[in-house]
Amino acid sequence: MRRATRFTFDSLAVLSLGALFLVLLLWLTSYYRYRVFSHEGRVLVLAIKENAFTEEWLRTKPPTAHDWGLLLPAGAWRFMGIAFAPTTIIGSYSFTFTSGGRDVTMFMPLRYWQLAIPYWLLAVLASALPLARWLAVARRNIRRRKGKCAACGYDLRATPDRCPECGESATVPRLNVR
Ligand SMILES: [Zn+2]
Repeated sequence: MRRATRFTFDSLAVLSLGALFLVLLLWLTSYYRYRVFSHEGRVLVLAIKENAFTEEWLRTKPPTAHDWGLLLPAGAWRFMGIAFAPTTIIGSYSFTFTSGGRDVTMFMPLRYWQLAIPYWLLAVLASALPLARWLAVARRNIRRRKGKCAACGYDLRATPDRCPECGESATVPRLNVR
């Protein structure tokens, strides 16, 4: 692998590892701490088509854990924890907010779509690159231990300083030739 390519690969693997830790943290806490975007093992994305009320609604009463269940209609597409509700309209979504010193209950039409992504899927995606990086390092180490070129696997017992096959100068630890 070329030096620049390897650097990019390593950087992305490190970033990916950071993302993995974030995913695991949010995943774990999603079971006992409700966040608007994270609930019981899933990331929740809600896109609302704005109207005169939605901004007020989001500001004063963002969707609760209970609301997510209501907003995901029975006909939503579901597969292995992924759920997707294409544009749906709730005709009378009620919410209460205080305006001018008194409570006002609004019934409003809400046009939205919703997506729920399970954390396990995000964890799998985020761990792919670090895993590939780890496997590559492990393979190089195994080759080195066997006295082979770390880059291409060519047998270096005859030429321990430089690989005649790919030109990689051997950073090989001294071989115990008995
Ligand atoms: Zn080689």
